[in-house]
Amino acid sequence: GLADRLQSTLQRIRGKGKVTEADVKEMMREVRLALLEADVNFRVVKDFIKKVTERAVGQEVLKSLTPGQQVVKVVHDELTTLLGGEQSKLAVGTKPPTVIMMVGLQGAGKTTTTGKLANHLRKKLNRQPLLVAADIYRPAAIQQLETLGKQLSLPVFSMGDQVSPVEIATKALEKAKAEHYDYVIIDTAGRLHIDEVLMEELQQVKEIANPHEILLVVDSMTGQDAVNVAESFNEKLGVTGVVLTKLDGDTRGGAALSIKAVTNLPIKFAGMGEKMDALEPFHPDRMSSRILGMGDVLTLIEKAQTTVDEEKAKELQKKMRDMSFTFDDFLEQMGQVRNLGPLDQLLGMMPGAGKMKGLKNVSIDEKQISHVEAIIKSMTKLEREQPEIISASRKRRIANGSGRTVQEVNRLIKQFEDMKKMMKQMSGMMKGKKKGGFKF
Ligand code: GDP
Ligand code: MG
Repeated sequence: GLADRLQSTLQRIRGKGKVTEADVKEMMREVRLALLEADVNFRVVKDFIKKVTERAVGQEVLKSLTPGQQVVKVVHDELTTLLGGEQSKLAVGTKPPTVIMMVGLQGAGKTTTTGKLANHLRKKLNRQPLLVAADIYRPAAIQQLETLGKQLSLPVFSMGDQVSPVEIATKALEKAKAEHYDYVIIDTAGRLHIDEVLMEELQQVKEIANPHEILLVVDSMTGQDAVNVAESFNEKLGVTGVVLTKLDGDTRGGAALSIKAVTNLPIKFAGMGEKMDALEPFHPDRMSSRILGMGDVLTLIEKAQTTVDEEKAKELQKKMRDMSFTFDDFLEQMGQVRNLGPLDQLLGMMPGAGKMKGLKNVSIDEKQISHVEAIIKSMTKLEREQPEIISASRKRRIANGSGRTVQEVNRLIKQFEDMKKMMKQMSGMMKGKKKGGFKF
């Protein structure tokens, strides 16, 4: 699938310390193929590749990322833009009820999504929705919604299949106003194909219901067809948002990637399964991460960027050069690492870390870190700055004060000295290295 292909392509470039223009070109060729194969609109693909290439070549280096990671970040950013950029939320009426009309082809998932959305509004936002059964054509469509309503303990308004959808919508709205419902969600009929008669009927429902949202429910398995469907519905009805369903299945992903770019309609929700809780507000950035299979690696990268303060890093570099690195600095560094979050969680966010063999043996022990902290905090100011004065009697005092053993104190001092040595070597290597953009 799309995700697999993009992931293996990006995997190759991610680890690179140096990225040449040829590397980018080759990667873009593969990204392009992967997108086309996923049935993404070819104009969208062309535009996407152009943007990513422009940004990936000759961009500024973020110090905390390798060039390979930067390219991945560019792909991620552009993919996020393609998917709509910011999250697009449901409109809310100035006074209740907020009216939502569900439209789409038969089998797209309108009725299921009506139930899911009502469930979401009640559970997550604590709002009272009224579900309206306005599909009078499909056999058992009314019953389907009533069953969902029972299952969710939510009211369903229905008048059987002998009354017009316009009349059903009118009566449902009267009831919702009188009984102070927060939302009215109208489940309408679909057809197998775009159909003039259906469109006219939907227009009439729209006219009397005056909906705040017309959500087009689209089956993501249908690829580029979904885009054509979206364009027709939008032209006839003025759609306000899209719900992409069946993203849990073996979808090629083309619909998700083309729909916003071609129709400029925001994707508001994603259906991730048949169950009533399988609806998620659509977050372009998360979707992009999911497609690229990056787990939360970008969150990790961003965290690293904001947590490790630039100024502090400079100061530390200077200390490394001057060899004035103290136990206090050591403590502060540890604090920064900790700010990134629990270490096992941090490892979980790294792609492939879960699959790594022997990771269990590498377990980073939070407890051990707090022991180190305790030991350093039992040192005097002078001891922290000049560890060489720590005599045997001082070691005993520090051990007692921190509740650790003398051996542990010894081990920490040894580690600290090793680290200083390592830093000396590193700062030697860094000397003469210029900062600035990476070009290729
Ligand atoms: P409608 O004709 O547009 O009202 O479509 P339905 O709501 O009746 O859904 C058609 C089929 O798609 C049903 O079997 C649903 O269970 C299924 N379905 C709807 N949404 C999803 C989804 O997000 N994931 C999966 N796997 N199935 C879905
Ligand atoms: Mg239906």
